[in-house]
Amino acid sequence: MKTEVKIINNVEESVDDIKRAAECIKSGGTVVFPTETVYGLGADALNENAVKKIFIAKGRPQDNPLIIHVASKNVEKYAQDVPKVAEKLMDKFWPGPLTILFNKKPIVPDITSAGLSTIGIRMPEDKLALKLIEFSETAIAAPSANISGRPSPTDIYRCIEDLNEKVDFIIGGNESNVGLESTIIDCTVTPPCVLRPGGITLEMLREVDPEVYIDAAIMKKPSEDIKPKAPGMKYRHYAPKAKVSIVEGSLEKSVEKINEIVQNYIEKGFQVGIMATEETKNLYKQGNIISLGSRNNIEEVAKNLFETLRKFDDSAVDYIISEAFTEDGMGLAIMNRLRKAAGFDIIKA
Ligand code: AMP
Ligand code: MG
Repeated sequence: MKTEVKIINNVEESVDDIKRAAECIKSGGTVVFPTETVYGLGADALNENAVKKIFIAKGRPQDNPLIIHVASKNVEKYAQDVPKVAEKLMDKFWPGPLTILFNKKPIVPDITSAGLSTIGIRMPEDKLALKLIEFSETAIAAPSANISGRPSPTDIYRCIEDLNEKVDFIIGGNESNVGLESTIIDCTVTPPCVLRPGGITLEMLREVDPEVYIDAAIMKKPSEDIKPKAPGMKYRHYAPKAKVSIVEGSLEKSVEKINEIVQNYIEKGFQVGIMATEETKNLYKQGNIISLGSRNNIEEVAKNLFETLRKFDDSAVDYIISEAFTEDGMGLAIMNRLRKAAGFDIIKA
């Protein structure tokens, strides 16, 4: 398949290109586009055949539902009912990195919701994404624009790396500002339940409804007893080629432990990557050290996480050892993605 790639530097000046991408969506094609969370691989959410192409291009399991992206807060076309709390959440956080689960209307085909009776809807903030949805005159179903299981792409070149010749169109240019996927909140239950932590933090959600709680399965290794409510959360995910481990404990002890582990691997002839921070990067003695940013700017750490995992893949390390982070605010989403990338391999310092 030939993929048309269009790099956009200025959205206002590129309306014609965005219109062509929208034509592609309208005619049942697949378009990779930027959002503020991560890049998405989109198709017309109401066109069964088009949605099927998303699953094929990514190699995504059929039982993993897609989020649909809209350009306004009028979700009645797709949602059976809109609870008061969902209205408040939309008012406060849309456009933005929050996906809300509603009971779905029959207009949304089963393939899009993977057979579930609910549908996740999000209005992204990215200007190009909003224009693309508007011009497409439909909702765009879009999971992250990576091969299934790989770290999500936060810039267009990573999308090209994964999906060139697998999709019809790749459009974009901006780096994703948030860098982690949207928060998913289920508003079909009372009180609402967070199924995936992300750009909108638990603390922010509780300002709207103090009762909001978190699916207990989010931070645990999926098992027979612990099944996450978001089907996608049960898969190995966000994983680079190297084996990832996380070292948890006080920062001082973690650094010491990481130095010891790295030394061990290097003696055995392996290449090792260290996910460090500005505060610690000079404390490591050897290995391929990349700083995710400052611990005082957890949003920056979130933004750099997936790209750093991919950079380690570029340098073909065998092992990646990461420091751990706070679980407050955005830290919860960071630790959720990190634990999954590590297949829950956690070493106590
Ligand atoms: P991605 O778009 O690749 O970030 O994946 C979407 C995530 O949202 C996956 O983890 C899905 O399982 C989850 N998701 C989407 N729709 C639903 C739904 N209706 N119910 C529960 N989880 C959902
Ligand atoms: Mg994904």
